[in-house]
Amino acid sequence: MVDWSGGNQGAAKPQADAIWACIARCGVVEDAVYLRNRQLAEAWLMDVIRAERAAGRRVLLGFDFPFGYPAGFGAALTGSDDPFALWDWFEARVEDEPRANNRFDLAGEINQRFGGKGPFWGNALKRDIAGLPRTKVGYNSPFAARREAEARATGAFTLWQMSGVGSVGGQAMMGLPVLARLRRHFAPDVSVWPFEPLDAPIALVEVWPSLTVGPAAEGWIKDQWQVHDLARQFAALAPARLAQMLDVPANPEGWIFGLGHEAELRGDATPLRNDCFALPPGVNWTPVDDALADLQARLTPVVAIETLPVAQALDRVLAADVRAARSNPPLPNTAVDGYGFAGGRSAGPHRLPLVAAQAAAGLRLDMAVPAGSAVRILTGAALPEGVDTVILQEDVEVLDGAVQFNGPIKAGANTRKAGEDVMTGDVVAARGRRLTAADLAILSAVGVPDVKTYAPLRVGVLSTGDELVEAGQAAAAGQIFDANRPMLMGLIRKLGHVPVDLGQVADDRTALRGRLDMAAGQADVILTSGGASAGDEDHVSALLNEAGAMALWRIAIKPGRPLALGMWNGTPVFGLPGNPVAAMVCTLVFGAPALAQMAGADWAEPQGFDLPAAFEKRKKPGRREYLRARVRDGRVEVFASEGSGRISGLAWADGLVELPDGALHVRPGDPVRYIPWGGFGL
Ligand code: AMP
Ligand code: MG
Repeated sequence: MVDWSGGNQGAAKPQADAIWACIARCGVVEDAVYLRNRQLAEAWLMDVIRAERAAGRRVLLGFDFPFGYPAGFGAALTGSDDPFALWDWFEARVEDEPRANNRFDLAGEINQRFGGKGPFWGNALKRDIAGLPRTKVGYNSPFAARREAEARATGAFTLWQMSGVGSVGGQAMMGLPVLARLRRHFAPDVSVWPFEPLDAPIALVEVWPSLTVGPAAEGWIKDQWQVHDLARQFAALAPARLAQMLDVPANPEGWIFGLGHEAELRGDATPLRNDCFALPPGVNWTPVDDALADLQARLTPVVAIETLPVAQALDRVLAADVRAARSNPPLPNTAVDGYGFAGGRSAGPHRLPLVAAQAAAGLRLDMAVPAGSAVRILTGAALPEGVDTVILQEDVEVLDGAVQFNGPIKAGANTRKAGEDVMTGDVVAARGRRLTAADLAILSAVGVPDVKTYAPLRVGVLSTGDELVEAGQAAAAGQIFDANRPMLMGLIRKLGHVPVDLGQVADDRTALRGRLDMAAGQADVILTSGGASAGDEDHVSALLNEAGAMALWRIAIKPGRPLALGMWNGTPVFGLPGNPVAAMVCTLVFGAPALAQMAGADWAEPQGFDLPAAFEKRKKPGRREYLRARVRDGRVEVFASEGSGRISGLAWADGLVELPDGALHVRPGDPVRYIPWGGFGL
């Protein structure tokens, strides 16, 4: 990604408003490069392209200036509609040196062909230039002010403006000749987007950082940040997705990459569609697997993406694959304390003179060890030149400045090869992974300083029901304590999300509406319990229905009542059954994978295993059943009562037994599938 400049040479010290470039290679974003003038930049680009081609890689080069002009300009100037005719026209006329160029004079000359009052305006020089108005007073242009792409890109500057902060007119004029030369030099290996099909190994693409790159991070120069972040955005795209984004109609005015895809490139949350929970009509009892497949297909991450230092990223979900910036180990090194030399040795006694040096970890010994000599070397030290084999210090005797030992020893013994663990460019952690402490170790070891992660998913928890009081409050006869909210808040936290306490609300539609309105601002997803069926007091489903975005999912599961899935002002709502046992089972079976996917994580399949049953049970066909269970002496016990009001059974259990949809007769000793709480991600 290249941030261009139309001005004169910048200072020797990196500064803003000069040329900056940043390479993302095989997914690794490198340090941005400061190029103080266009001559240096052109030579650097040539070198980069040549080196990448020699290495057999394809190259996409993004430049932040327009590749074409508003319709009609090229034809009026060159007699041809071919945008490359305009590139060549400029290339033939632009005179460019580090400290001077003729862009204002050329703009004036062009204007004079069209009556001297436009299309260009703006002169940053002290001297007046014939035909180039300093301001837009008296300005008159025969061409449209903006290209079609600029009309869609809020804040984009017009190409006709030659001076002033952010003006792009001079950049294009001073950039197109360079592109014309690159194109000619590497022909026929260059395709220019969107003028030509992208079928050559080198692609030139117009970009505009301001479209998707936010304010610079602290300590960064703006242009340095822009090329870095834009390179990162490109590198984060799956190749097929990048291809889709590049698939735009050919347009002689050129186009700006990423138009229409800003949120995705920026990494913003993509809102769920209002109809994302709609069910096909006529479906009565949906099998559990179908319901899960539906959720998986429809839910997308709803949280924003943010970059964090690795050390702060524990438990965060990765928003992009992370590749090694450096191999591990970076150089061949020794796995033991001992003596290093070249080549293996046969059986029998050996004596090698020692060089007067020592190789220790941290600093590569800057000398070559002569053939037939050995060097003292300590664990972790990079092998010096002339060493590929290390013998353990315990296996040698050091006498008179030499080591003595008995062979055989194989060449390469006790050493680690460079990259034997991880090679530069390898994916060390994939998108969707929740980072563990071990991940932080490998990311750090391969030189990754920060990672793109999803912001934590905020899950609101709301209890509904006239009968509920909070534990600790006085409960009248007929009232019950709210058990679901503490349970659901705990499950959310264990699943790695951030629970948001939305309290409890009576069976009152107005109150519930008010609470949901408030909740939609505080939470990314809302879980309610109670009131989700289709009875008189089932206000959750009634309200979601009113909003026109609800579906009552009748899922063939026991325990469980219908799940009311809907959208409230753009926030997904999971209406869970009120019954605590059913609420927990539905949260684990449907909530856990659905929330994971909305948090940006991979779809979470429950991890269970077969164990012999310690119980007997007959089951009818038609519903999948989950029993509260625990393992004792290698056999699965189930709770004595299947009553769905028995909260004590949830606390008794260490997991669930999952019985398949069909009819079944389990006898003691038969294998049954046991899923411990941890298998659900708790
Ligand atoms: P509902 O789905 O509202 O018809 O409730 C089903 C059953 O679950 C009823 O017996 C409710 O009293 C009970 N219930 C609902 N919400 C809770 C809660 N938060 N804590 C404990 N029990 C509840
Ligand atoms: Mg209720």
